[in-house]
Amino acid sequence: MSLIPYGRQDIDDADVAAVLDVLRSDWLTQGPAIARFERAMADYCGAKYAVAVSNGTAALHLACLALNLGPQQRLWTSPITFVASANCARYCGAEVDFVDIEPRTYNMNVEALTRKLEDAARSDNLPTVLVPVHFAGQACDMQAISLLAKKYDIRVIEDASHAVGASYRGQPVGSGNHADISVFSFHPVKIMTTGEGGMLLTNNAELYEKLMCLRTHGITREPSRMVADVPEGGWYYEQIDLGFNYRLTDLQAALGTSQLRRLDRFVARRRQLAARYDRMLADLPVTPQWQHPDTNSSYHLYALRLNLERIGKNRQQVYNAMRNADIGVQVHYIPVHRQPYYRSLGFRDGDFPLAERYYSEALTLPLYYTLTESEQDRVVEALRQALT
Ligand SMILES: *Cc1c(COP(=O)(O)O)cnc(C)c1O
Repeated sequence: MSLIPYGRQDIDDADVAAVLDVLRSDWLTQGPAIARFERAMADYCGAKYAVAVSNGTAALHLACLALNLGPQQRLWTSPITFVASANCARYCGAEVDFVDIEPRTYNMNVEALTRKLEDAARSDNLPTVLVPVHFAGQACDMQAISLLAKKYDIRVIEDASHAVGASYRGQPVGSGNHADISVFSFHPVKIMTTGEGGMLLTNNAELYEKLMCLRTHGITREPSRMVADVPEGGWYYEQIDLGFNYRLTDLQAALGTSQLRRLDRFVARRRQLAARYDRMLADLPVTPQWQHPDTNSSYHLYALRLNLERIGKNRQQVYNAMRNADIGVQVHYIPVHRQPYYRSLGFRDGDFPLAERYYSEALTLPLYYTLTESEQDRVVEALRQALT
């Protein structure tokens, strides 16, 4: 039997044709496919502006820069995320802190956030930027988070790397209604892919201009943004900021536009398979991620908690049994504050107990668009045996 991975992409003939078209065109990068992908993504999400970049991490970095995050400032995120959600602050020379999770959704805990903000306001230590992460594709309590952000004058970047195609209170994640900037990743394990790739969405024209400029070295060709009163000639451009080469190629953008046409199908299938897991696991000593009624997850991950007291085994034993059965289970995530780099900045075990407890019980089952029901049956059967 072959390995069932925890995630994988689906590339069809239309995707291949779209990339071939670009390969045979005049523009491999900096051509028209980029703006087409951006327009299509902005329209899909109902946001005004979209900026395509080379990966989700670059998107987070530029989002922080555009919001003027810098030294002596702070970014707060969730400990249960990929390290990139925190690292983006460090790239800007800012400090990172974490807000513990809500134990049923594994998203940022709004009560913990409320208390931590009250404390920070008293000691004049408020963060500049909050990065709620839509874990597994389920949106955070963005209404509450954006209200708190307004109250304390904090900017919000939603790390929606898992949540392209998801919705919150009936609106697509990325609409910009509850965040200054939304960030997607198009890595192949995510919901839709461009190989590597990322996207920023915003409704703010000024942020959009800044992001476009930072994506390509801090260079502008827009006369109104130049220091010079008049451009010296047709060749003229100005570097007005210190930016990066974080561009996406046209090859990737064409793949993205093609994948976006199937996004709703990708997500619908993931939801169907997740509902099937829910039913099949109901009698096992595991707890699937609880779904808040305000959210409709894109199910990037099917993450569950093992009820270890009832199982009488540790997580390592369950993980190994699954791996031995060729089931590519994973653990999302090692709490970021427990990484050696963050320990070296002063974080300790016990700092975020709800996240640490979740981590000790977490297991992610395979879930992707082309997972078949018989493969899913194999996963559940292997889990049943691993738990007994
Ligand atoms: C994948 C991911 C990222 C980074 O995206 P890349 O495209 O791999 O750089 C950031 N945050 C979260 C939560 C992710 O899952």
